[in-house]
Amino acid sequence: MATVSFSKIVKSFGQTEVIHGADIDIEDGEFVVFVGPSGCGKSTLLRMLAGLESVSDGEIRIGETVVTELAPKDRDVAMVFQNYALYPHMTVADNIGFPLKMTGVQKTARTKNVNEVAKLLGLDGLLDRYPRELSGGQRQRVAMGRAIIRRPSVFLFDEPLSNLDAALRVQMRREIKLLHKRLESTMIFVTHDQVEAMTMADRIVVLRGGRVEQIGTPDEIYRQPANTFVASFIGAPP
Ligand code: ADP
Ligand code: MG
Repeated sequence: MATVSFSKIVKSFGQTEVIHGADIDIEDGEFVVFVGPSGCGKSTLLRMLAGLESVSDGEIRIGETVVTELAPKDRDVAMVFQNYALYPHMTVADNIGFPLKMTGVQKTARTKNVNEVAKLLGLDGLLDRYPRELSGGQRQRVAMGRAIIRRPSVFLFDEPLSNLDAALRVQMRREIKLLHKRLESTMIFVTHDQVEAMTMADRIVVLRGGRVEQIGTPDEIYRQPANTFVASFIGAPP
Protein backbone atom coordinates (compact mmCIF):
# COMPACT_ATOMS: atom_id res chain seq x y z
CA MET A 1 0.00 0.00 0.00
CA ALA A 2 1.45 3.35 -1.01
CA THR A 3 0.06 5.49 1.72
CA VAL A 4 2.36 8.38 2.65
CA SER A 5 2.54 9.84 6.10
CA PHE A 6 4.46 12.83 7.37
CA SER A 7 4.52 12.69 11.15
CA LYS A 8 5.61 15.68 13.29
CA ILE A 9 8.07 16.78 10.60
CA VAL A 10 10.45 19.57 11.54
CA LYS A 11 13.09 21.01 9.22
CA SER A 12 15.75 23.57 9.97
CA PHE A 13 18.39 25.03 7.70
CA GLY A 14 21.14 26.11 10.09
CA GLN A 15 19.45 28.09 12.87
CA THR A 16 16.30 28.72 10.88
CA GLU A 17 13.34 26.39 11.33
CA VAL A 18 11.29 26.34 8.11
CA ILE A 19 8.89 23.40 8.76
CA HIS A 20 7.35 23.50 12.22
CA GLY A 21 5.90 20.05 12.89
CA ALA A 22 3.85 19.00 9.87
CA ASP A 23 1.39 16.08 10.00
CA ILE A 24 0.03 14.94 6.64
CA ASP A 25 -1.57 11.55 5.87
CA ILE A 26 -2.12 10.59 2.25
CA GLU A 27 -4.17 7.59 1.15
CA ASP A 28 -3.17 4.92 -1.33
CA GLY A 29 -3.87 6.14 -4.85
CA GLU A 30 -4.81 9.66 -3.83
CA PHE A 31 -3.97 12.76 -5.87
CA VAL A 32 -2.96 15.34 -3.27
CA VAL A 33 -1.93 18.91 -4.03
CA PHE A 34 0.30 20.93 -1.69
CA VAL A 35 -0.53 24.59 -2.25
CA GLY A 36 0.72 27.78 -0.63
CA PRO A 37 2.68 30.94 -1.30
CA SER A 38 6.31 30.88 -2.36
CA GLY A 39 8.61 29.91 0.51
CA CYS A 40 5.96 28.09 2.58
CA GLY A 41 7.88 24.80 2.45
CA LYS A 42 6.24 22.83 -0.39
CA SER A 43 9.47 21.81 -2.12
CA THR A 44 11.20 21.06 1.16
CA LEU A 45 8.45 18.60 2.13
CA LEU A 46 8.73 16.81 -1.22
CA ARG A 47 12.51 16.79 -1.07
CA MET A 48 12.44 15.22 2.40
CA LEU A 49 10.07 12.53 1.13
CA ALA A 50 12.34 11.83 -1.85
CA GLY A 51 15.43 11.84 0.37
CA LEU A 52 17.02 14.90 -1.23
CA GLU A 53 16.90 16.64 2.18
CA SER A 54 17.16 15.10 5.63
CA VAL A 55 14.48 15.73 8.26
CA SER A 56 15.49 17.56 11.43
CA ASP A 57 12.83 15.72 13.43
CA GLY A 58 9.84 13.48 12.86
CA GLU A 59 9.22 10.54 10.58
CA ILE A 60 8.04 9.90 7.03
CA ARG A 61 6.50 6.58 6.02
CA ILE A 62 5.60 5.11 2.65
CA GLY A 63 3.20 2.29 3.44
CA GLU A 64 4.63 0.58 6.51
CA THR A 65 8.21 1.55 5.65
CA VAL A 66 9.90 4.36 7.53
CA VAL A 67 11.86 6.02 4.73
CA THR A 68 13.39 8.88 6.68
CA GLU A 69 16.70 7.03 7.11
CA LEU A 70 16.76 5.35 3.67
CA ALA A 71 18.94 6.46 0.76
CA PRO A 72 16.98 8.19 -2.03
CA LYS A 73 17.42 5.21 -4.36
CA ASP A 74 15.80 2.89 -1.81
CA ARG A 75 12.64 4.96 -1.56
CA ASP A 76 9.72 3.92 -3.74
CA VAL A 77 9.25 7.42 -5.21
CA ALA A 78 10.07 9.38 -8.36
CA MET A 79 10.05 13.14 -8.76
CA VAL A 80 9.27 15.39 -11.74
CA PHE A 81 10.84 18.85 -11.59
CA GLN A 82 9.88 22.21 -13.03
CA ASN A 83 13.02 22.52 -15.14
CA TYR A 84 12.67 18.99 -16.62
CA ALA A 85 16.35 18.16 -15.93
CA LEU A 86 16.70 16.15 -19.15
CA TYR A 87 20.11 15.09 -20.45
CA PRO A 88 20.69 17.26 -23.55
CA HIS A 89 23.12 14.82 -25.19
CA MET A 90 20.76 11.84 -24.91
CA THR A 91 17.80 10.93 -27.12
CA VAL A 92 14.27 10.78 -25.77
CA ALA A 93 14.55 6.98 -25.56
CA ASP A 94 17.80 7.16 -23.59
CA ASN A 95 16.46 9.88 -21.29
CA ILE A 96 13.40 7.79 -20.44
CA GLY A 97 15.40 4.59 -20.08
CA PHE A 98 18.20 6.13 -18.02
CA PRO A 99 16.93 5.01 -14.57
CA LEU A 100 16.75 1.43 -15.84
CA LYS A 101 20.26 1.62 -17.25
CA MET A 102 21.48 2.85 -13.86
CA THR A 103 19.97 -0.18 -12.16
CA GLY A 104 21.55 -2.58 -14.65
CA VAL A 105 18.49 -3.55 -16.71
CA GLN A 106 19.54 -5.10 -20.04
CA LYS A 107 19.06 -3.27 -23.33
CA THR A 108 16.25 -5.51 -24.69
CA ALA A 109 14.14 -5.20 -21.56
CA ARG A 110 14.90 -1.48 -21.44
CA THR A 111 13.70 -0.89 -24.98
CA LYS A 112 10.47 -2.78 -24.32
CA ASN A 113 9.79 -0.69 -21.21
CA VAL A 114 10.70 2.58 -22.91
CA ASN A 115 8.32 1.79 -25.78
CA GLU A 116 5.46 1.09 -23.37
CA VAL A 117 6.02 4.31 -21.46
CA ALA A 118 6.41 6.34 -24.66
CA LYS A 119 3.09 5.00 -25.88
CA LEU A 120 1.40 5.86 -22.58
CA LEU A 121 2.61 9.46 -22.89
CA GLY A 122 2.11 9.90 -26.62
CA LEU A 123 5.84 10.07 -27.28
CA ASP A 124 6.07 7.23 -29.79
CA GLY A 125 7.58 8.67 -32.94
CA LEU A 126 9.81 11.04 -30.96
CA LEU A 127 12.12 8.46 -29.39
CA ASP A 128 15.15 9.31 -31.57
CA ARG A 129 14.92 13.06 -31.02
CA TYR A 130 17.05 15.13 -28.67
CA PRO A 131 15.53 17.40 -25.99
CA ARG A 132 16.38 20.55 -27.98
CA GLU A 133 14.19 19.24 -30.81
CA LEU A 134 11.10 19.04 -28.57
CA SER A 135 8.41 21.50 -27.49
CA GLY A 136 7.99 22.42 -23.82
CA GLY A 137 5.07 20.04 -23.42
CA GLN A 138 6.95 17.18 -25.06
CA ARG A 139 9.95 17.76 -22.79
CA GLN A 140 7.68 17.66 -19.78
CA ARG A 141 6.27 14.34 -21.00
CA VAL A 142 9.79 12.93 -21.36
CA ALA A 143 10.51 13.99 -17.77
CA MET A 144 7.34 12.19 -16.68
CA GLY A 145 8.35 9.14 -18.71
CA ARG A 146 11.64 8.98 -16.88
CA ALA A 147 9.78 9.14 -13.58
CA ILE A 148 7.28 6.45 -14.58
CA ILE A 149 9.73 3.95 -16.03
CA ARG A 150 10.60 2.29 -12.72
CA ARG A 151 6.91 2.18 -11.72
CA PRO A 152 7.33 3.74 -8.30
CA SER A 153 4.37 3.68 -5.91
CA VAL A 154 4.52 7.42 -5.31
CA PHE A 155 5.02 10.25 -7.83
CA LEU A 156 6.07 13.72 -6.79
CA PHE A 157 5.59 16.76 -9.00
CA ASP A 158 7.26 20.02 -8.00
CA GLU A 159 5.54 22.84 -9.95
CA PRO A 160 6.02 20.91 -13.20
CA LEU A 161 3.85 23.24 -15.28
CA SER A 162 5.11 26.68 -14.23
CA ASN A 163 7.30 27.10 -17.31
CA LEU A 164 4.53 26.31 -19.78
CA ASP A 165 2.18 28.77 -21.44
CA ALA A 166 -1.42 28.94 -20.21
CA ALA A 167 -3.02 26.74 -22.87
CA LEU A 168 -0.43 24.02 -22.58
CA ARG A 169 -0.66 24.17 -18.80
CA VAL A 170 -4.36 23.36 -18.94
CA GLN A 171 -3.71 20.48 -21.34
CA MET A 172 -0.91 19.05 -19.19
CA ARG A 173 -3.14 19.19 -16.09
CA ARG A 174 -5.55 16.91 -17.91
CA GLU A 175 -2.76 14.61 -19.06
CA ILE A 176 -1.34 14.25 -15.58
CA LYS A 177 -4.79 13.42 -14.20
CA LEU A 178 -5.25 10.85 -16.97
CA LEU A 179 -1.90 9.33 -16.10
CA HIS A 180 -2.99 9.16 -12.47
CA LYS A 181 -6.09 7.22 -13.49
CA ARG A 182 -4.11 4.79 -15.62
CA LEU A 183 -1.29 4.16 -13.17
CA GLU A 184 -3.47 4.20 -10.03
CA SER A 185 -0.47 5.38 -8.05
CA THR A 186 -0.27 7.92 -5.26
CA MET A 187 0.62 11.39 -6.52
CA ILE A 188 1.67 14.54 -4.68
CA PHE A 189 1.60 17.66 -6.81
CA VAL A 190 3.05 20.96 -5.61
CA THR A 191 1.87 24.33 -6.91
CA HIS A 192 1.45 27.93 -5.81
CA ASP A 193 -1.53 28.19 -8.18
CA GLN A 194 -4.91 27.93 -6.42
CA VAL A 195 -6.82 27.15 -9.61
CA GLU A 196 -4.45 24.30 -10.41
CA ALA A 197 -4.97 22.95 -6.89
CA MET A 198 -8.75 23.25 -7.00
CA THR A 199 -9.09 21.60 -10.42
CA MET A 200 -6.64 18.72 -9.93
CA ALA A 201 -6.77 17.60 -6.31
CA ASP A 202 -8.64 14.81 -4.56
CA ARG A 203 -7.48 16.62 -1.42
CA ILE A 204 -5.59 19.84 -0.91
CA VAL A 205 -3.00 20.58 1.77
CA VAL A 206 -2.84 24.36 2.34
CA LEU A 207 0.54 25.48 3.71
CA ARG A 208 1.72 28.78 5.09
CA GLY A 209 5.08 29.60 6.64
CA GLY A 210 6.01 25.96 7.22
CA ARG A 211 2.69 25.02 8.81
CA VAL A 212 -0.29 23.03 7.57
CA GLU A 213 -3.28 25.39 7.66
CA GLN A 214 -5.91 22.96 6.39
CA ILE A 215 -6.31 19.59 4.66
CA GLY A 216 -9.52 18.82 2.79
CA THR A 217 -11.25 18.23 -0.51
CA PRO A 218 -11.46 21.26 -2.82
CA ASP A 219 -15.12 21.53 -1.88
CA GLU A 220 -14.43 21.48 1.87
CA ILE A 221 -11.64 24.01 1.56
CA TYR A 222 -13.77 26.30 -0.56
CA ARG A 223 -16.94 26.06 1.54
CA GLN A 224 -15.41 25.75 5.00
CA PRO A 225 -12.00 27.44 5.06
CA ALA A 226 -10.30 26.87 8.43
CA ASN A 227 -9.23 30.51 8.81
CA THR A 228 -8.99 33.84 7.03
CA PHE A 229 -5.69 32.93 5.40
CA VAL A 230 -7.21 29.88 3.69
CA ALA A 231 -10.32 31.87 2.82
CA SER A 232 -8.38 34.63 1.12
CA PHE A 233 -5.82 32.35 -0.51
CA ILE A 234 -8.28 29.78 -1.88
CA GLY A 235 -11.60 31.57 -1.60
CA ALA A 236 -10.93 34.04 -4.37
CA PRO A 237 -13.23 32.94 -7.21
CA PRO A 238 -11.24 30.86 -9.71
P1 ADP B 1 8.35 26.60 -1.59
O1 ADP B 1 8.71 25.40 -2.40
O2 ADP B 1 7.00 26.49 -0.93
O3 ADP B 1 8.46 27.88 -2.34
P2 ADP B 1 10.74 25.92 -0.08
O4 ADP B 1 10.43 24.57 0.46
O5 ADP B 1 11.61 25.98 -1.26
O6 ADP B 1 9.38 26.72 -0.36
O7 ADP B 1 11.41 26.80 1.06
C1 ADP B 1 10.89 26.88 2.37
C2 ADP B 1 11.80 27.78 3.19
O8 ADP B 1 13.04 27.13 3.37
C3 ADP B 1 12.08 29.11 2.53
O9 ADP B 1 12.15 30.08 3.54
C4 ADP B 1 13.43 28.88 1.89
O10 ADP B 1 14.14 30.11 1.80
C5 ADP B 1 14.09 27.94 2.86
N1 ADP B 1 15.08 27.04 2.21
C6 ADP B 1 14.80 26.12 1.27
N2 ADP B 1 15.91 25.45 0.91
C7 ADP B 1 16.92 25.98 1.64
C8 ADP B 1 18.33 25.71 1.74
N3 ADP B 1 18.91 24.74 1.01
N4 ADP B 1 19.05 26.45 2.61
C9 ADP B 1 18.47 27.41 3.37
N5 ADP B 1 17.15 27.71 3.33
C10 ADP B 1 16.39 27.01 2.48
MG1 MG C 1 9.27 25.23 -4.40
